[in-house]
Amino acid sequence: MSPLVQPVLRQLSLWPAFLAQDFAPSHRTLTSWDEEGLTSSELLLEARGPSWRVDRAAFDGWIATEACRGAERVDAKVLRLERAADGWSVACEDGTSHSARLIIDATGRARALADRQGFRAKARDRLIAAYAEATTSGPAAPELLVEAFENGWWYTLALGEGRRAFACMTDSDLARGLRLNTTDGWRAALAKTQFVSAVASRVIQFEPPRLIPAGGRTAATATGFRFLCAGDCASAFDPISGHGVVKAMRSGVFAAYAASDCLARGDAAALGRYDSWVTREAAVYTTTLGEHYDSVSRWADRPFWQRRRAGMSSSNSLSSLSEQ
Ligand SMILES: Cc1cc2nc3c(=O)[nH]c(=O)nc-3n(C[C@H](O)[C@H](O)[C@H](O)COP(=O)(O)OP(=O)(O)OC[C@H]3O[C@@H](n4cnc5c(N)ncnc54)[C@H](O)[C@@H]3O)c2cc1C
Repeated sequence: MSPLVQPVLRQLSLWPAFLAQDFAPSHRTLTSWDEEGLTSSELLLEARGPSWRVDRAAFDGWIATEACRGAERVDAKVLRLERAADGWSVACEDGTSHSARLIIDATGRARALADRQGFRAKARDRLIAAYAEATTSGPAAPELLVEAFENGWWYTLALGEGRRAFACMTDSDLARGLRLNTTDGWRAALAKTQFVSAVASRVIQFEPPRLIPAGGRTAATATGFRFLCAGDCASAFDPISGHGVVKAMRSGVFAAYAASDCLARGDAAALGRYDSWVTREAAVYTTTLGEHYDSVSRWADRPFWQRRRAGMSSSNSLSSLSEQ
């Protein structure tokens, strides 16, 4: 999790409680990007502090509990929304129904509510993760390791308790060619890496790889009548940004401000301001992402890198890719 989690949690008065969870700080990232060797980024020198290795389920459980201290919590999947006189009627899978003056869709890439309201999102690329966890032996290298290759990039990260994540990030059509959904294809691609395969030599057992959508996506609009999208539902970033969780939390904070301005102050422009903020954030992200991929010149003739260089000069052509 990015070092930027600190200011967001401080704003929510949750920083001391976060530290008390004993998540592991990570002071270094190792990268082989446009160079054959490894570059080390020392986060000890980073004013915002280290990045954090968190157990996502534990973190999500903790922050949901904190968020619900002042609210009634209903643990049920939302099935349907219907417009009601002063907002919405919400039907849940457990058979209960609820009324809401305003909806914030924070269902991630599923966009479970927004898509049904007709707010479509556009895919910016076809990135997927061919992801596998493994049990390892010996002491775990704590830092995140990122290694670019001709068809994308790999990352590996210790998860704690002898577990480690490995992911090959590439485009869905290239993944099919590499057979990354099969153990043999995935292991063959891993064997061709230099640094990630060295870490993998300490693996006792791999789980089978699974494919996870990971592409960048932006919604044409993040708001509607008494309706807001937050987190990945509003815009999903390529995981190379390392900001997905923090961005989701920050947009949750801003969505809450907009909801409060709309409902408590009757500010009719509040949702529109939030929508503009989401659009601006996505534009900054697109530029930064383009520059990051453009810094790789090693495989200029390979489709994965060519597509991203083309995206740099024409983000419109990328945003016109159909939904995955
Ligand atoms: C391979 C990969 C690696 C990544 N690595 C990182 C990383 O290192 N650091 C980082 O910061 N980010 C990373 N990200 C991005 C990060 O995971 C997301 O940006 C982040 O989880 C978005 O949070 P969210 O709350 O918007 O959505 P989610 O985390 O997807 O949460 C959505 C929630 O909505 C619930 N939901 C769905 N449908 C319904 C429904 N109908 N009713 C009720 N609830 C529903 C789901 O159960 C889930 O709890 C990575 C992403 C990928 C794909």
